[in-house]
Amino acid sequence: MPELPEVENTRRYLVQIGLPGRRFTGVNISWANTLKNPSLRELQQQLPGSRVESVQRRGKYLLMPLDTGATFIAHLGMAGRLRVHPQNQPAPPHLRHTFPLDDGRELRFLDSRKFGKLWLVADPQEALPPLGPEPLEPGFSVEDLCLGLAGHNAPIKALLLDQAMVAGIGNLYADESLFLAGIHPLRLGWDLSAAELARLRDGIVAALSSALAQYDRSRAAEWPDPPPALETWTIPRAKGASCPNCVSDMACMTVRSRTTWYCPQCQPAKASQPVSRQLSAPTNPQVGVR
Ligand SMILES: [Zn+2]
Repeated sequence: MPELPEVENTRRYLVQIGLPGRRFTGVNISWANTLKNPSLRELQQQLPGSRVESVQRRGKYLLMPLDTGATFIAHLGMAGRLRVHPQNQPAPPHLRHTFPLDDGRELRFLDSRKFGKLWLVADPQEALPPLGPEPLEPGFSVEDLCLGLAGHNAPIKALLLDQAMVAGIGNLYADESLFLAGIHPLRLGWDLSAAELARLRDGIVAALSSALAQYDRSRAAEWPDPPPALETWTIPRAKGASCPNCVSDMACMTVRSRTTWYCPQCQPAKASQPVSRQLSAPTNPQVGVR
């Protein structure tokens, strides 16, 4: 499922390929459930003629403010991809929707699982659920985490998946962040110490920053058709694999129905000093609104 790095990679792709400044000239929707608001007829009336001002991201949502004042919003769901290709280029598999542009190209929404979503709204708040702080914004702090987790008697793994707690984290980067922080996935939110919260904040930033750096390299190397998904995490997610830190066996369990990988040695079930480890923390790239 696309998480913050995949959605931000898509945002950067759409900016680089030149979507901002282009006008939509049409609407072709082939799977009606994707369109959440407005109706198809209203979308066909309102979108053509409008110009994309910029491409922004909030959590796992892509926002395209238009010169009409409305905002076109996309959520990639489980496996969605957005691409800009010439209109006369043959349709790839799983192409669900196309939005022709005024330069002979079109915005394409590919979606093999059909869980993607689209909105055209006057105010983004009409489409977005409550979202917590952006973890790669410079202001993301231990205090943010502390405020979000206060009083929550739930496993930290489940809390990290709550988009109102921190925006953009999904299953893979929750596991990676907890591994980098040396925190067991079942530790309760309220029970984490200030030192553990600081390590968790650093682990989240390191996991997401490292992933984005790899996506940036991949886009540059494989332009104009970079892969939509890379395996950018460091922990092995396979039976019999060893922890890259201590070489003991990785363990797997289910937390709130989500498959969760962790190292029982590096992520002890009870609070303790973590095994010393080296966080790979590249410089924090610029993300979000521009
Ligand atoms: Zn380990």
